[in-house]
Amino acid sequence: MARTTICILHTGGTIGMRRGPRGYEPDPGFLSARMGEMPEFSSAALPAWKLHAFDPLLDSSNMTAADWRAIGNAIVERYDDFDGFIVVHGTDTMAYSASALSFMLEGLAKPVVFTGSQIPLAEVRSDARENLITSLQLVADHPVPEVCLYFGDRLFRGNRATKVTSKGYRAFDSPNFPPLGRIGVDITIDRDLVRPVPPGPLRLTEVGQPEVTDIRVFPGITASMLARFLEHPLDGAVLHTYGAGNAPEHPELLAVLREASERGVVIVNCTQCLAGSVDMQGYATGSGLAEAGVVSGFDMTPEAALTKLFFLLSQNLDRTEVRRLIGVDLRGELTRKA
Ligand code: ASP
Repeated sequence: MARTTICILHTGGTIGMRRGPRGYEPDPGFLSARMGEMPEFSSAALPAWKLHAFDPLLDSSNMTAADWRAIGNAIVERYDDFDGFIVVHGTDTMAYSASALSFMLEGLAKPVVFTGSQIPLAEVRSDARENLITSLQLVADHPVPEVCLYFGDRLFRGNRATKVTSKGYRAFDSPNFPPLGRIGVDITIDRDLVRPVPPGPLRLTEVGQPEVTDIRVFPGITASMLARFLEHPLDGAVLHTYGAGNAPEHPELLAVLREASERGVVIVNCTQCLAGSVDMQGYATGSGLAEAGVVSGFDMTPEAALTKLFFLLSQNLDRTEVRRLIGVDLRGELTRKA
C-alpha cells in the first residue's frame, strides 16, 4: 500500500526562527534541514512528507490577506498530489489565517492542519517537535476534512480557535466550541463534531482588499471617535461590544452607526468576552445597535468575524446578502439556537 504523503507548507513563525541581533527572525532553510537531521521525522510511524517553504518566510505579524491567498493557492496547486496539508505558521495571526482559509476553501475533502510553536525548534525546550509530529499523525491517521489548528494537545476547528497566551504551551483555545480532538497517550477525535465531507470539487475564493476595520467599544468612547473609525471609504467593521453585545445607548453614537450602515458599511457585533454569544435582544443597549443596522456575530471569534467579512465582501454580493450571510453558519464558525 502506498504511504500517505503530506505536504508541509512552511510560511514562517517562531518554529523555524533563530535568534538574531534584533530578536527572533525567520531563518530560511533551517526548518527543513533540522527536520531532515532528526531521525523521528523519517520514522516509519509517520507519513512521508514534503516541505515547501514560502519565500520570504514571515513573522505572522507581518501577514495580510495576500498571504491568505498565497496559502490557498499553494494548497489548490498541490491538492491532487497529497493526502493532506500542514500549514506551519506563526502563532500571532494563526487563528486569522486558519479562519480565512476555512472560508476560502469550499468543498475541502482533505485535512488542512495549521500548527507552529511557542519556542523555536532550534532550542532545547521547544514545543515544535511534538506539534509537528502529532500534526503529521493527525493528518495521516485521523484525517478531519476541515481547516483545523493543532496546538498543545488539542485539535481545534480553525475558525473557532483564538490565541489565549503568549507564554504557555497551550497557546490556543476554542472557547465556544469543544476541541475536535484530544491528544494524550491516545489520539481521540470526536467524530460527532466533525463536519461531513462537503460536495466537491475544491474551489478557492481569493479574498481581495475590501476596506475592513476592527473597533473596540470602551467606557467613554465618543461619537466623533467612532465616526473617524467609520469614515468613508469603508466596507465592513467588527465592533467589539460588552457582554451579550451591548454598547452605550448614546443617541449620537447610535446615529453614527446608523449613518455608516445606511452607507453600506456592514458592522458585525462581537462580544469582548472570550466565551459566549451576542444576543442583541437581551438588553435595551443591544437593541439600540440592532436598530442602527448592526448585525449579530453570534458566538464567532473576532478572527472568524473579520475574515468572514473579508470573504463575503470580496464577492459580488449586495450588502443585504452580506449581512444575511454573516448570521449563517458557513463552515462551522457559529452556533445559532434554532
Ligand atoms: N511572532 C511569531 C509569529 O507569529 C510568534 C510565533 O510564531 O509564536 O510569527
